[in-house]
Parts: sequence; structure tokens; C-alpha cells
Amino acid sequence: MFGGQPVLTLNDGIMIPQLGFGVWQVEDKTAPAAVGEALKVGYRLIDTAQGYDNEQGVGEAFRASGLGRDDVFITTKLRNREQGYDATLRAFDQSMQKLGLDVLDLFLIHWPLPDLNTYVETWKAFVKLKADGRIRSIGVSNFNPSHLERIIGETGVTPSVNQIELHPRFQQRAVRDFHAEHGITIESWSPLGQGKVLSDPVIQAIAEKYGRSAAQVILRWHLEQGLIAIPKSVTPSRIAENFEIFDFSLDAEDMAQIDALDDPNGKIGPDPETFHFKF
Ligand code: NAD
Repeated sequence: MFGGQPVLTLNDGIMIPQLGFGVWQVEDKTAPAAVGEALKVGYRLIDTAQGYDNEQGVGEAFRASGLGRDDVFITTKLRNREQGYDATLRAFDQSMQKLGLDVLDLFLIHWPLPDLNTYVETWKAFVKLKADGRIRSIGVSNFNPSHLERIIGETGVTPSVNQIELHPRFQQRAVRDFHAEHGITIESWSPLGQGKVLSDPVIQAIAEKYGRSAAQVILRWHLEQGLIAIPKSVTPSRIAENFEIFDFSLDAEDMAQIDALDDPNGKIGPDPETFHFKF
């Protein structure tokens, strides 16, 4: 499945490619070309969101690719202001119209927004959409263990995925243990640290050792640990480079060196406990 590239099996039995193409900050009008390029070089997982305002372009690229519906795994995320049971159901329909799909592969609650206190009822709408066969897998994004515990406790349904900030400078070790205990697969967002980790001398030295690029080494680091990585680029050569990572692996020493780059101040994005709206 997915052309033989590495896949993971989620806790609901659904298979997902381990490397995806992220489209945050890709404009709707640029998305067909960028996503088209990604599908051409072999990516089979596309990560968009209602808040990225490019679902139309993503759907266009999928249709133009000539690939079958089962060949491509498409993720979108609920816009923050659409949280709530009824609003979620309506917003989901709008996404499906924009994407031009009947069934979605993965839908995520984009941020928990704890001060709104609507993520549990939102999750209940996700559970219904899955039960109705409209989504194959359901998950969340930017949820801390306390938010996960609450939705699991109140609905009995464990998310299949949590998409969180994760890169060599922000490795989320304790949070990862919690996910392993609960069978929740992690997707690493900003897997390249938004490009900031690429110039690190440790990464550069490992890249030189293998005759690979820094981005390829970092993406390999994600895959070796069973994480899903969704790097973004709109540059065709980088889109291709980030996909050419299935023919080498890092050894234990390389992994240990990158593990040592974890930094208490390495977080780039906002704190899920306080982040509000925007998407
Ligand atoms: P990223 O770590 O993927 O870095 C992207 C940047 O790195 C690019 O803009 C480019 O400048 C650079 N880059 C990419 N490939 C390169 C290469 N081969 N060589 C040199 N430079 C390269 O950061 P991102 O875009 O923030 O995150 C990726 C995806 O994660 C997003 O597109 C989105 O899908 C997802 N995301 C999700 C959330 C969330 O809240 N769920 C938040 C941020 C990002």
C-alpha cells in the first residue's frame, strides 16, 4: 500500500504513510503546483487544515494527479472557531466540499483551546463522523496529556493521532511516553524546526558522513523513532530531497548525538494551554 513506502498502522487498524507533505503557509493558488509536485515525486500523505485556507487547491492537486482515492491519505484539521458539536459537523461538510472528497482519511482538532472548554463536545462530533463512515481515522493536534486524558475519560474513545511540535531541539520525551502507553501515534509538526535546525553542526557532520543533506538526516531521525514527519517546502528540489530518505538509516551513535540536541528553550510554536484562535 502507498507504493511500498514506510507506513504505520494506527490504533484503529488504518494504515498511514510515515512521511507526509505539510501545506501550512502554502496559498490556495500555489497549492495545486506544490501538492502536485509532492504527489509526482511519491508523497502519499498530505497535511492541510481548514485554517490554512488551501483545501480547494489540495483537492485540485489530488484530482489532477490521476491517483486513486485509496492511493493518497488526506488529513485536514478543524478550524479553531468551529469547535462545538454542531459547528464541527457543519465545518466538516464544508471541508469535504472544498477538498472534493466523500470520505476523509484523518480529521484533527487543531488546538485544544482549554479556555473555551469545547474540545470534549467537539471530540464527540468527531466520534460520530467516524461512526457514520465519513472519516477513516480521528485525532487531535497540540493536545497535552491532560487534554487527552479528559477526552478519553469522557468518551471512551482514544485518538489515533496527536500532531504536535517535535524536532531535534524540542523532542517531547515525557509526552511521547504517554502516547506510547495509550497507543496514540505522534505526527511531528515543524519536523525540521522550520529550517532552524538545519545548520546545527552536529546535524551537518552526520549529513557529511552519509553524503546526505541536513534535512534528510533530520527526517530520518523522525522515521527511525516511529514518528510521522510532515515537512513543508514549495521548492521542487527540496520537495524531492525531503522524500529521498528511504535508502539509508542512521546508526545508534548518530541517533544519540541528535537526541542530545534537545533543548529546554527549543520550542518554536505557542503553548497549547494558552494558545487561542488564529487558525
Ligand atoms: P518545517 O519544519 O517543515 O520547515 C519548513 C521550512 O524548512 C520551509 O519553509 C523551508 O524554509 C525549510 N526547508 C524545508 N525543506 C528544506 C530542505 N530540504 N532544505 C532546506 N530548507 C528546507 O516547518 P513547518 O512548515 O512549520 O511544518 C511542517 C508542517 O507541519 C506544516 O506545513 C503543517 O502541515 C504542519 N504544522 C502543523 C501545526 C499544528 O498546529 N498542527 C503547526 C505547524 C505546522
